This record gives sequence, C-alpha cells and structure tokens, in this order.
Amino acid sequence: MRPFQFHTPNTFEEAFEMATSKTAYLAGGTNQVDLMKKHIATPENVINLKNVSTNTIETTNDGIRLGAGSTNNEVANHPQILQHYPLVSKAILAGASPQIRNMATTGGNLLQRTRCPYFYDTALPCNKRDPGSGCSALKGNQRMSAIIGYSSKCVAVHPSDFCVALVALDAEVETTQSDGTSKTTTFEDFHRLPGENPEKDTNLPENALITSVFVPKNAFGNNIAYVKIRERDSYAFALVSVAAALEIRNGTIEVARLASGGVAHKPWRWKNAENYLKNKSATLENFEAAAKLVLSETEPLAHNSFKTGLLEGAIITALSQAADNTLETKW
Ligand SMILES: Cc1cc2nc3c(=O)[nH]c(=O)nc-3n(C[C@H](O)[C@H](O)[C@H](O)COP(=O)(O)OP(=O)(O)OC[C@H]3O[C@@H](n4cnc5c(N)ncnc54)[C@H](O)[C@@H]3O)c2cc1C
Ligand code: SF4
Repeated sequence: MRPFQFHTPNTFEEAFEMATSKTAYLAGGTNQVDLMKKHIATPENVINLKNVSTNTIETTNDGIRLGAGSTNNEVANHPQILQHYPLVSKAILAGASPQIRNMATTGGNLLQRTRCPYFYDTALPCNKRDPGSGCSALKGNQRMSAIIGYSSKCVAVHPSDFCVALVALDAEVETTQSDGTSKTTTFEDFHRLPGENPEKDTNLPENALITSVFVPKNAFGNNIAYVKIRERDSYAFALVSVAAALEIRNGTIEVARLASGGVAHKPWRWKNAENYLKNKSATLENFEAAAKLVLSETEPLAHNSFKTGLLEGAIITALSQAADNTLETKW
C-alpha cells in the first residue's frame, strides 16, 4: 500500500475542508482498503468518516431513515426494519458474512465498486479503472457480466444486495455537498449505467457525501422475498438476484415491485413486469408470464446467456414466495 495522510474529522464541514483532489473517504473499509492494497485506488489523503456519519436509524411518519454510518448488521437486525421493511433485512443478510456486515456501512454499501475480475487485475486494461484503456471483459470472459444496460465501454454489474431491496422499495439517497446544501436523489437515479463513462458508478456530485438513506413506508407487509443465486452459499456475490414485493387484496395484485442484482451496472427495476402484474391474480401462470417479459428485455453476452435461465427461475420463485401462496413451482 502506498503512503497516505489519514484524517478523522468530527463534522462534515471539517471533512470537506480536509478534502483534496486525491482524497478517498473511508467508512467500514471493507472495499476501500482492498482497493488501496491492490493499487486500484491510490489516494494521498484518506478521510475516515467514523465520527462524521451517524449510525442512527430513525423512524419517521413517512418511513425510516438509515444514517450513512449504520452498519449492515445494525440495519438488518433493527426491530423496525424486521417488522416493517423485512425485504431490506433479507437482502442484507444474503450478502457477505456476519463479520463483514459488522463493519460495512449503509453509505459504503451503496458506493462499493464492481467485482468485475478485470477491474481488480491492474495488469489488464479496464475502462472503469483506467478510462480509455479498453474493456478486458468484452474481449475476455463475461460470465459474471451484465445482461442489460451495458455499453461497448463496460459490461460490469453492480455487486450490492442491499441496493436491490432499496431500489425495489423506492428509497432515496440524502447527500450533503461541500457548500453545506443537502440534496435528495431517488435510489433509481443514484447509480448510473456505464455509457461512455464507466469510471463513474453513480450520479453523486463531486465533493458530496452520503448522509442517509430514506426508505418510505410501504404496505407490502410480509409479501416480500429476496432470492439470490450465487456460485456458493457464502462470501459470494450474486450471479443474479431478485427482490419481489407485492400488495395483494383478495388474491389480486394491486402493487408489484421487482428488482434485480447481478444483471446491470446498477440495481435494476423490471417496470414492465411490475405493470403487467398490476390487477392480475397472484398465480404461477402470471408469475411465469412476468418472468418471460423480463427475459425478453435482456441481451446476454457471449458467455452469460445461462444467467437468463437463472433469472427466470429466481423471478418465479421470488414472486411465489412473496405471494406466500402454496403454488407448486417447477424451480
Ligand atoms: C469477502 C466479501 C464479500 C462480500 N459479499 C457481499 C455480498 O454478497 N453482497 C453485498 O452486497 N456486498 C458484499 N460485500 C461488500 C460489502 O458489503 C461492501 O464492501 C461494504 O458494504 C462497503 O461498506 P464499507 O462501509 O466497508 O465501505 P468502504 O469500503 O469504507 O467504502 C466504500 C466506498 O464508499 C465510499 N463511502 C463510504 N461511506 C460514504 C459516505 N457516507 N459518503 C460518500 N462516500 C462514502 C468510500 O469512499 C468508498 O469509495 C462483500 C465484501 C467482501 C470483502
Ligand atoms: S466490464 Fe467494466 S469493470 Fe470490467 S473490464 Fe470492462 S470496463 Fe473494466
């Protein structure tokens, strides 16, 4: 690791004052430290957010606010989350390990970098790590890559599980800028597609920090599910994952939310399938049709068409589990 200055400010103002053009912010460090050890991030100035970001989890009239410094385990095991936002808990607990979740924070989870293997191999070109150098995944193996929303510059996927639940629940990201102003961004607009600039993962402005994530109240109750398919049962990122949430009255779906991880450069909402399910009965046939609709939107690459089969099964399973019905699935 290269030498760097280390600062632990006590306020956002102090943090912004200490920032330079070569600053990296540090929260739990579970991704940032790896990036520095592998020389993918080479900051001269590291600003520890420990005393700045709050870990407060606060219930409001409209929802719940998760301080950027709350750890993944604090969120996943919070009584209000377990009771009213179980999808958030299930998605977080599907990721990493208890030890990592004790360190990893809400803010850091949103901003963790892709797990594309070429991004971590500094001997090979990567437009995300070194803009303009080329995309090794496109010329190499795209097994873990995107099946929708990619560009000729980058086919990487966003690795988070937590974020898949947050996009499904229409969460918002609250940020503070160096001029002291605050901004709220819808979760869907927070992460971005690679386009011509894959080095940018999000629309977070320069000189801004995440202060909290707000999850609005919902009426899904326990009609939720998170299904994650991965190479092995722990310490593995999703090949594909699905968050499903349903509002069902008398067997009819009034609201459906469906989102996926492991498929795109950002947590992905399947809006056409959600619209299709609205006012339909919660039946296996309708879930299969919704999954087919999703598949018709995907464009797998040379080495990852297997992901579509996994995704189809994960969607049908997640919707069936969310409906909490006794439908027999063939998956
Ligand atoms: C072995 C392993 C397995 C894992 N498996 C999974 C998994 O299955 N699913 C999953 O979702 N995740 C998984 N993770 C990723 C883990 O969840 C993330 O590394 C973690 O959430 C990052 O949080 P952190 O607080 O440690 O962030 P850090 O590593 O400290 O920071 C990550 C990035 O966020 C920025 N940042 C942090 N807080 C703020 C803020 N408030 N404002 C602005 N920028 C900020 C930092 O500057 C940095 O760029 C795994 C990690 C490891 C090491
Ligand atoms: S897919 Fe993106 S992260 Fe992976 S090698 Fe290509 S440019 Fe880099």
